[in-house]
Amino acid sequence: MANFETTTLAADLAGDVTPLMAQYLAIRHAHEGYLLFYRMGDFYELFFADAAKAAEALDIALTKRGKHLGEDIPMCGVPVHAAESYMEKLIRKGFRVAVCEQVEDPALAKKRGSKAVVRREVVRLVTPGTLTEDALLDARASNILAALGRSGSDFALAAADLSTGSFWVAALHEREIASELARVRPRELLVPDGLLAHESLGAVLKACRAALSPLPSSRFDSAHGERALTAHYNIAALDGLGSFSRAELSAAGALIAYLELTQKGKHARLARLKRVAPSHFMAIDAATRRNLELTETLSGTRGGSLLAVIDRTVTAAGARELAARLAAPLTDVKAIEARHVSVGLFANDSELRRRLRDALRTAPDLSRALARLSVGRGGPRDLANLRDGIGAARSLRDSLTQIVLQGEAADAAEAIVQNVAHVSRLADRLELLLVDEPPYLVRDGGFIKANVHAPLDELRTLAHESRRVIAGLENQYRQAAQVTQLKIKHNGILGYFIEVSQQHGDRLMAMKDLFRHRQTMAGAVRFSTDELANLASRIAESAGAALDLERALFDEMTALVLEHEEALGQIADALSVFDVSVALAELAVAARYVRPSLDNGLGFRITRGRHPVVEAALRAENARGFVPNDCDLSPNSARNGKSARLWLVTGPNMAGKSTFLRQNALIAILAQMGSFVPADAAHIGIVDKLFSRVGAGDDLAAGRSTFMVEMVETAAILNQATAKSLVILDEIGRGTATYDGLAIAWAAAEHLHETNKSRALFATHYHEMVALCERLGAMACVTMKVKEWNDTIVFLHEVTSGAADRSYGIHVAKLAGLPLAVVERAEEVLRALEEGREGHQPLARIDDLPLFGASAPAPKTCMVEEALRTVEPDALSPKQALEILYDLKRKLP
Ligand code: ADP
Ligand code: MG
Repeated sequence: MANFETTTLAADLAGDVTPLMAQYLAIRHAHEGYLLFYRMGDFYELFFADAAKAAEALDIALTKRGKHLGEDIPMCGVPVHAAESYMEKLIRKGFRVAVCEQVEDPALAKKRGSKAVVRREVVRLVTPGTLTEDALLDARASNILAALGRSGSDFALAAADLSTGSFWVAALHEREIASELARVRPRELLVPDGLLAHESLGAVLKACRAALSPLPSSRFDSAHGERALTAHYNIAALDGLGSFSRAELSAAGALIAYLELTQKGKHARLARLKRVAPSHFMAIDAATRRNLELTETLSGTRGGSLLAVIDRTVTAAGARELAARLAAPLTDVKAIEARHVSVGLFANDSELRRRLRDALRTAPDLSRALARLSVGRGGPRDLANLRDGIGAARSLRDSLTQIVLQGEAADAAEAIVQNVAHVSRLADRLELLLVDEPPYLVRDGGFIKANVHAPLDELRTLAHESRRVIAGLENQYRQAAQVTQLKIKHNGILGYFIEVSQQHGDRLMAMKDLFRHRQTMAGAVRFSTDELANLASRIAESAGAALDLERALFDEMTALVLEHEEALGQIADALSVFDVSVALAELAVAARYVRPSLDNGLGFRITRGRHPVVEAALRAENARGFVPNDCDLSPNSARNGKSARLWLVTGPNMAGKSTFLRQNALIAILAQMGSFVPADAAHIGIVDKLFSRVGAGDDLAAGRSTFMVEMVETAAILNQATAKSLVILDEIGRGTATYDGLAIAWAAAEHLHETNKSRALFATHYHEMVALCERLGAMACVTMKVKEWNDTIVFLHEVTSGAADRSYGIHVAKLAGLPLAVVERAEEVLRALEEGREGHQPLARIDDLPLFGASAPAPKTCMVEEALRTVEPDALSPKQALEILYDLKRKLP
């Protein structure tokens, strides 16, 4: 079967090829790597290998059509009106699609000769990062296209969301790339093709979950990039935008050029290129994000993530903004406080919150509507969305008149006031012309109100009148032909026609002056008349003319929208800021969060902190409440008489170590993203980088050995963490033999303490490490409190000073239902090992211990069981039975 990636066009055209197939092959060969959706009438058809792939991916029938070089041509097709949902499926499965349309009227092609083929062109390349249609997008998630540019050893990542128009670029060191990709999470990543073979970067790029689009390095040329940018913004020189490095130009230019390529020259709306510095954000690498389950859980679901627990937004744009903020906590105290101030203000005024949320709920997705209109894929519904969005902004503005705002909400309100005034002419026009709920597509018509445009009204009346006259004709013809069952009907092929049953056909046939025969069916005969044909063509003409008029009005409104693109974009942004700010206030009130205080010091003091997700889960289960815990890593803390920035956390499994570690990391993230935090009080010196690692075993990474993964990740921390960082190490070293693991954990703790000097929480099951607390001046030991009770243990989930005296591993095993014999044997082995510590030879001692099976003491059986075994119920009188029962009851432990 022809496979276009391996054959040439010339080879495919050899032999007997129809003109249509020749056109297909030429277009298909020009778009390697894409499935070609080839428009034929009401269908997009796919041929050859494309057809086989699509039929399988879409689960649709694979048929054939004609022959090529002696073999059947496989074919499948999707109807045009349903094409979006099929495309969505294909994109999700990793395909890219080239959409090829008929670009001339088939009637024109016919004039060129009977063999002439309708001209067709690819009008768009659909790739994961360049989607704008609602059907192809997740409303509450952004859809980012990124490009990694390079100039010598400098790198830069440019990123854009075509569906909303945001666009920025960041200069990067090679070692920052992984963390930046983890923050941005592009859906599609453009890279110079050479980079994929790059020793270390290649792996980083393949590990990021984006669809990779390698492009020739020439596309990443920085001079080229500069030209693409000046052309895109229609400016003479870039100076107006700011100064950009060569790597930045390379990335941003490649991205713009790719947009033009995929949009086939349609000018995508992009905001002014912004420059961001990675140091504006708390650095959080991919492993930490995954491990802390920020936007999705380890199993890949949104439910159960931090985002799901804190999201109280009421608009899709607000949800996207909240997710973006969670992905990128800030490091600038002023900027963070501007967010906190607004949240605090709304948290104190429930009535204001209610009013704002009511207004916000009526706001549709402005940015996505705007983006579609700007690339020529918009429809009347998008215009209505802008109208309603402006309306929502107006009512929001009106409910703010009595309020003195502060922080970012004050800026957002200012933006709304100014820009709403700016777009008032546009708003009036949209309100005047558009019906309440217009259709999605222009070609459906009917989206312009009645009585707002005289020529349109006239055409509509004409069509309406003609329909009325046709209805009148029916009666007239019934009388003329003396057939009471005569009917005037309409269908898509004949248009209007007169129908009578077979038995009356001859009567109408005879009236040749009036009725013209059109069609004889089984049981019915169809006719037309001059008058009917006239009226029908008048209806068709006026309907066509009306649609043309509506189309012209649509174009006029769209042009007006594009003139106000910037103001509309700012309104959209301001609305999403309000949504996020009010939503965070709502959360703070509902879940009892407090405003954290921040500065540039090294403090970290959390009073009665809680884990937001575990707390919410316990609440949902109606279980007992979450136990709050303090954490103080500040230089002036005084735990056990010394200030400790590194806490060694010991305690049995299930006692709450991991929960405690994570809750403190999450509190730092929430604070710096601008949210309140789940605690009674929190003081945090800005965290520049956050690291979180879990010892292998909890997290089964694919491919590499889990211990290798653990060590690679630990190495990254020890190489990168600074005194301003917050580090969370949860049972590292667990993935290898005891002594190795202990040695590694030990050395890592020393390095963190002596060299990195980061604030850190270190959970371990190696009790031996407690000895470090005496040696290391800034390390303190804490433990999870447990209560022993009747030979079993109860977890209190409380953090206290000191170290766990034992691991209780065997207790936990017992709770889990390990057979009693195994538990008892383990206790023996443990005793032997512990005596061994005091200088004996533990393993030799264990060898001496009798094995079960061979000579192990028979497992203790309980007295009740023993007593029951001797009882013969059939031989007992009722009185004896009752006595035995009393006896048994006494024997119960
Ligand atoms: P460890 O890491 O010590 O094995 P985890 O942190 O995984 O323990 O906690 C085990 C379980 O205990 C959690 O799933 C949670 O249900 C419960 N838990 C932990 N901390 C608390 C707390 N502070 N309050 C209430 N329940 C808690
Ligand atoms: Mg744990």
